[in-house]
Amino acid sequence: MRRIYVLRYGHRPERDKRITTHVALVARAFGANGFILADIIDNKIFETIRKVEKRWGGRLHVEMGVNHRKYMEKWKRDNGIIVHLTMYGLHVDDVIDDIRKTDKDLLIVVGAEKVPRYFYEIADYNVAIGHQPHSEVAALAIFLDRLYQGRELHLSFPNAKVIIEPCAHGKKVISIGEKEAGKD
Ligand code: SAM
Repeated sequence: MRRIYVLRYGHRPERDKRITTHVALVARAFGANGFILADIIDNKIFETIRKVEKRWGGRLHVEMGVNHRKYMEKWKRDNGIIVHLTMYGLHVDDVIDDIRKTDKDLLIVVGAEKVPRYFYEIADYNVAIGHQPHSEVAALAIFLDRLYQGRELHLSFPNAKVIIEPCAHGKKVISIGEKEAGKD
């Protein structure tokens, strides 16, 4: 299976705990199969991902503390391509068809604060989700949505303990095979 991994660069544990967790949760929910936290280990984020998976299913490949440079260089040596999300890049509408056509592994890089020039150079594609500054969470979600053309919103996850039954009003959570219904 083609690997679609998200690499988070520049995580600052004190400031970015929530937003980096959201990057990982969007990666999972929107169809990526790996999450790489570069240069630092943050066990709180790891625990949150595994906790969500325990209830809602799936198994994201997670690596933390890897050196971003070595990781990206190896990714390219292994014939994968790198997409760096940045407002300075080419508009997503102009490159997404090319990116979708390739069957190569895809590493999607998002930053936190300022991203060094190196990233712009190693990336095969610098992709802008519009040319206004916003958020790595929004940028990643929209990129994956465009890549999968909306299909990711219908994903179901293996080993889920619960699933949602869509409701016009209120909440309905159904436990798969056991008695957790209505817990959420
Ligand atoms: N000023 C920073 C810079 O020079 O890259 C932007 C920091 S922004 C808060 C954090 C991350 O969100 C960026 O590194 C980028 O990955 C993503 N991002 C924000 N706006 C974006 C946009 N319009 N298109 C693509 N990615 C964006």
